[in-house]
Amino acid sequence: MESIRPLLATPTFVLALVLLLALAFALAFAMDTPAGHQLPRPPSLNSPPPSLNSPPITMLPTEIIQHIASFLPPSGAASFASTCLCIRLAAGTQYLSALRASRTEILALLELLLADAPNNPIVNFPSRLLCADCARLIPIYIGCGASATSVFRKTWDLSTRYIVSSFSPPIFYTIMAMHRHGHQCDELLSRIAPPTTTRYTSSSGIASQHTVHYRIATTGPLLIRTQVTYIFPRPPLDDREHTLGSFCHHIGGKTERFSTTMKLVQTEALSGTGRSQPKFIDCNYCRTTVLVGARKLRGRGIGLFITWWKDLGDGRPADETWTDQIGLSTRPEKWRHVRHGTIPVVEAFEGQNARYLDFDEVMTRADWKELLRLSPIQ
Ligand SMILES: [Zn+2]
Ligand SMILES: [Zn+2]
Ligand SMILES: [Zn+2]
Repeated sequence: MESIRPLLATPTFVLALVLLLALAFALAFAMDTPAGHQLPRPPSLNSPPPSLNSPPITMLPTEIIQHIASFLPPSGAASFASTCLCIRLAAGTQYLSALRASRTEILALLELLLADAPNNPIVNFPSRLLCADCARLIPIYIGCGASATSVFRKTWDLSTRYIVSSFSPPIFYTIMAMHRHGHQCDELLSRIAPPTTTRYTSSSGIASQHTVHYRIATTGPLLIRTQVTYIFPRPPLDDREHTLGSFCHHIGGKTERFSTTMKLVQTEALSGTGRSQPKFIDCNYCRTTVLVGARKLRGRGIGLFITWWKDLGDGRPADETWTDQIGLSTRPEKWRHVRHGTIPVVEAFEGQNARYLDFDEVMTRADWKELLRLSPIQ
C-alpha cells in the first residue's frame, strides 16, 4: 500500500482513471441508446476533427468530461483540465471555487504540477520550487522575491537560525512533495547538506569539525543530524570557547542544561576509563535530541562530541512538528509537551536502539582522520 499511495495522486494516475471512467461511460451510453437514436450531444461539429494523435478522451461529449471532472477532488479536476485545451474547455469551471477556497487543495494541485514538471537539466532539480508558505511555484533562480508573504519571511528567518544557516524552506517543501510522489530524494538531500568543515585555531589550540546529514524517515518526515566535534589541549572547554548556537528554539549552547552536561562529560573523561557516558538531552517542546560525550585522546588532550537530531516534519506548513521545531509559537505556555522520555528521532535516523549508541559512533572514519590531521600532537 505504501508504494501505491503516492501513485494515486500522480497526474498519470488521474488520467488513467479518467480514461477508464470514460470507457465505462461510453459503453453505458452505447447500451442505453436505442438503435437509430443519436447520442445526446456529440462534440461540436464546428471543432476540427480530432487528429490521430489526440487522446481518445477529447472525442467524448462535453457532458461526460464534466461528469468525470465532478468525481475528482478540485485539485484532481484542475490537474485533469491542465492536460489539454479541449479538456480544459470541456471541464468548465465548476471546480475552481472549491479549489480557491481550500489551501490544502491548492497545495495538492501545486504538488501534482511539480511532480510532473521536468527537471532543470543544469541543476537536475525541478525548475520551479514549491513555496508552501506563499502557496505557489517559484522559479528556482529567483525564489519568492519581493512578493514573498510575511509568513514565508518569518519561516525562513527562524529556520536558518534554528536548523542550519543554509536551510531553505522552499527546497524542503519541494523535496518532501517529490518524495510523496515517489521520487528517490537521497541524492538531492546529500547535495543540499552543507559540506563538512574542519578547522584549527592556533590561538586557542582548538580543532573543530561541523557535519550535517539529512535523511527522510521511513515514516515520512525529514530528519537532520548535525555533529560538532572539538579537540582541545586543556579542559574544560566552556561557554566562552565554543561557538555552538541553538540546537532548537528551546535549547542552545549557552543553556544551563547543556552547559552542565558538557562540564560533566569532561570531568568523567578525565577520570577513570578516559571516556564519559553518552548523555542525551531531549527537548521537551520539539522533536530535538542532543547527545554529548567526551573522551581522552592521548597526546592531544580531550575530544568533545556533540550530535543533535531534529525531526522537521513532512514539509506541510501547518504540520505541528515543524511549527514546534522553528518556534513559530514564541510564547512558552503555548509550547506543547511532546516527549515521554524516549528519543524516537535518534532511532528513526540511525535505525538502531539509541540505548546502545555511543557518542563517537556516528562519525565517519574519513571525518575523524581529517580532524586528527588538523589537531596537533602536543
Ligand atoms: Zn514524480
Ligand atoms: Zn514563498
Ligand atoms: Zn526544542
